Amino acid sequence: MTETYNPAQQKVIDMLGRSSDRPEIPTGLADELRADIENSLLPVMHLLPDGSSYEKRFFLNKQGVTNVHSCEGFFVGGQGEFEWTHANCKGTIVHKTIEVSINLRRPMPPTDLVEESISRLSNDSSKSISEFLITLDEYDRAELVGECSGLFTRFTECFPPIKNAWIPQVESSLALNLAGNRIRIGGKVDLALGRPPDKVIIDFKTGHPSLAHHDDLRLYALIDFLALGQAPRKVASYYLDSTDVHQEDISETILRSAARRLQDGLVRAIELKLGGAEPVLRPAALCRWCAISADCPTGLEYLAQKNEAEGW
Ligand code: SF4
Repeated sequence: MTETYNPAQQKVIDMLGRSSDRPEIPTGLADELRADIENSLLPVMHLLPDGSSYEKRFFLNKQGVTNVHSCEGFFVGGQGEFEWTHANCKGTIVHKTIEVSINLRRPMPPTDLVEESISRLSNDSSKSISEFLITLDEYDRAELVGECSGLFTRFTECFPPIKNAWIPQVESSLALNLAGNRIRIGGKVDLALGRPPDKVIIDFKTGHPSLAHHDDLRLYALIDFLALGQAPRKVASYYLDSTDVHQEDISETILRSAARRLQDGLVRAIELKLGGAEPVLRPAALCRWCAISADCPTGLEYLAQKNEAEGW
């Protein structure tokens, strides 16, 4: 029986669904790109930890790659301690709710599902979000349940119901080990549908679209490609509040460009974090939430000019 979708769901199917048109990926490209990345690491091998245990590795994630390409000062010291907030915990709660909803045998009301997700996350002491959730008072918790239920309901209305036949993988970890396990590039995919070469990797987003979202997904496509030898067919950002879908077909050009970006960022990250290299400052919008902006004359000057231009 053919599934009937509403127009919003049909848009997702049209943009992400199976298609016979797909870019040709040359045989041997995964080996070639991996060899290029490994070769680029040779000048910084002496700086790396020995990789003898999980902790003795150099870790980098998608945010680190983006930050080192933005402002190196921010990458080294501007990120500050991560703190859970009302705004940033919504994504984790809605992802958890989506994950559970896919495998439910009987549908549950969105609010009940979100309540259950918050309870589970609160009770899981291995997750740092639990420390934040258990401190919420009744009003804040109720507000959070309301906002997350709204996002989840919108998702169920606008995203096609996910079938088991699509082989959904939710919150699945990705990792690329390099330099004889002395480096680990890690990440977590919000949702993957299908098997390679038909796989589609989807990141759920709240907030405004950003070019960094494309870069994050290209990095995930590259990691998957180097691990499996087969590239995903497509990557997409799905914006939960606007229900916009930004998708990209994964081609040889994209994989090469993602590998080059990772290679350059990784070498520079090692030089900065382990080799004590002098950071190159690139003031930008990032200065507004940089933890060291008060002590950074370059950032202060940029912000002063920006405020002047904006009439503040
Ligand atoms: S204030 Fe701006 S320029 Fe200075 S380190 Fe932070 S992000 Fe870079």
